Amino acid sequence: MLKVLANKSFSNGNVYALKTEDGYPLEVTDTFLPYYTKDAIGRKQNGLDNNELGSRKERWMIGVSCMSGCPVRCKFCATGQLKRYRNLTAEEIVEQVEFIISKNKDYSPLNSQEFKINYTRMGEPFLNIEEVKKAISIINEKYPNTHHYISTIGVKGSDFSFIKDNITLQISLHSFDDDRRNDLIPFVNKLTIRELGQIRTQSNLKTTINLTLVDEADFDMCKLKEYFNKDFFFVKLSPINVNEVSEKNHMGKGIITGINLV
Ligand code: SF4
Repeated sequence: MLKVLANKSFSNGNVYALKTEDGYPLEVTDTFLPYYTKDAIGRKQNGLDNNELGSRKERWMIGVSCMSGCPVRCKFCATGQLKRYRNLTAEEIVEQVEFIISKNKDYSPLNSQEFKINYTRMGEPFLNIEEVKKAISIINEKYPNTHHYISTIGVKGSDFSFIKDNITLQISLHSFDDDRRNDLIPFVNKLTIRELGQIRTQSNLKTTINLTLVDEADFDMCKLKEYFNKDFFFVKLSPINVNEVSEKNHMGKGIITGINLV
């Protein structure tokens, strides 16, 4: 049974710090947005058009942790600061989802226009992939309209064959230079940028390449064209979530501070 350590509310959701029975901390988020923001490809952004934030009946997103802590220790992420880590069980992953649902009794995921589980909080999902797959099956059984969105650094030897239909993959790329990427994501056993570009899935949606650009040199249009076929990949530019670790590593705010393409 997960216990609440702390929580913080913001205008379109909440973030909770929870603790497993054996004392490992983890984080889960509960957010919502207007439905039109889903069309990020057509709109070339996912910003809001006005002050209306929508509700959980439109886009309801739950960001779950797959681990407590993380052995990858990315230079811009506070999770790796936790000294110890452990994989969460499928039951502990599902419990995070049920915890958020229980906090929002006026809503049902079954009635949301989009109900999405983002495997994007603590941990690298592919270092705990069997439990993540079990959690997906349990959630699909109960909430068949769920969209699962799995974010990975691209661990060598990963099997992407289960990424199909309502399951989508995101790759944390962050730079088009392998040396720079090795510095930002200091996990040895990962795919090269060229290898990442060869990933193909059977998802309903293209694979997202996530770029949190620390500086302009991290972007390279020629390599983007060379490695990532636009028929299979969608590029997302994200701001850095400034935290103690990113500050210590002089990441600043990154070059994406706000986009307005209208
Ligand atoms: S893999 Fe994800 S959770 Fe782990 S350190 Fe990197 S960004 Fe943080």
